[in-house]
Amino acid sequence: MKVLVLNCGSSSLKYQLIDMETEGVLAKGLCERIGIEGSRLKHQPAGKDAVIFDDYQEDHSVSVKMVLDALTHPEYGVVKSMKEINAVGHRVVHGGEYFANSVIINQEVIEAIEKCCELAPLHNPANLIGIAACDKIMPGVPQVAVFDTAFHQTMPERAYMYALPYEYYEKYKIRRYGFHGTSHRFVSEEVAKMLGRPYEETKTVTCHLGNGGSICAVRNGKSIDTTMGFTPLEGLVMGTRAGDIDAAVITYLMEKENLTAAEMDNILNKQSGVLGISGVSSDFRDIEEASEAGNARAGMALDVFAYKVAKRIGAYTAAMNGVDAIVFTAGLGENSASTRKEICDYLGYLGVHIDSYNNSLRGKAMEISAPDSRVRVFVIPTNEELVIARDTKELLDK
Ligand code: AMP
Repeated sequence: MKVLVLNCGSSSLKYQLIDMETEGVLAKGLCERIGIEGSRLKHQPAGKDAVIFDDYQEDHSVSVKMVLDALTHPEYGVVKSMKEINAVGHRVVHGGEYFANSVIINQEVIEAIEKCCELAPLHNPANLIGIAACDKIMPGVPQVAVFDTAFHQTMPERAYMYALPYEYYEKYKIRRYGFHGTSHRFVSEEVAKMLGRPYEETKTVTCHLGNGGSICAVRNGKSIDTTMGFTPLEGLVMGTRAGDIDAAVITYLMEKENLTAAEMDNILNKQSGVLGISGVSSDFRDIEEASEAGNARAGMALDVFAYKVAKRIGAYTAAMNGVDAIVFTAGLGENSASTRKEICDYLGYLGVHIDSYNNSLRGKAMEISAPDSRVRVFVIPTNEELVIARDTKELLDK
């Protein structure tokens, strides 16, 4: 079985074609600037050079068609015809309280995803456009939705309720949902294998640290708490997002600076985080470089970031009454040895002890804690596309 995995953004579309016999990626790529001048498709067949197609992509249907043309191209293609693609798996950001698992897409599922558009106005509409585009270009090919929120639907009320008047939960479904669920699920399953323990009997804190970041407490194979909430703004300090903040600051600033709700939203989501503190960049590589060159605000941004991660690891250890393993993943978690060290330096009370040589290595799943470390620490590259493809296959095999 070959599964096409699609991740549609408002003006972008990322894809991978995965052969489920081997779980190998046959080709992957990215459409950018969909509906905007300067659209392009970068197509990367496995083991060959990438090819760029710069035809205008008016909408996501045109992009899906171009992706299929690239995948079946006589020179750059990896399959002979579209018929070889057995299914499409979509990353869908918000499944609200409707979906605790991945599902085969039908009209009822589409309507439920539509109902969640209000909760993820930048993402869910794009996901729906991608689903409709596939339906049009590949009619009859089964499609599956894999939700970022689904893994966290096991959170108990005490973790997901905000202390607001209950009527807002009833009226607007204002509660904590959590995101990056596909990634937290993948790395927590992988670490159980690496520990040689049953997933259902393992306590893990998973740290997905990328441009957006979240931490999850996974007890016995279930998410019991996570740092992102109603939206991906809550929790850690991120590239450009503020994370947790006293809600009173928002009304105070809006009054002082005469800001509209949209302007305040933009400040919290786009101008804050490590970019806001450092004034340098949202990219941790730039901030690390600036800090090393003596920029004090860049150093402070890194400190604030690591301190908050370490505090959450402690909080989740308490929530699970213990922890067997801590996992780092995503762009920063997988690549920044100095960030991992700074975080782990706070965890001496847990008996965490990092092996500095292993912590300096990159690119594969490995343990970075020393043999005498009481809690084991791992770096595991995340692979959300593979989870989407596996869920798609599993649902269709049923
Ligand atoms: P992601 O959102 O998972 O793609 O992660 C992207 C972020 O990871 C970038 O914005 C960088 O801040 C960070 N990152 C990637 N590589 C490195 C690295 N070698 N050192 C520090 N940060 C990195």
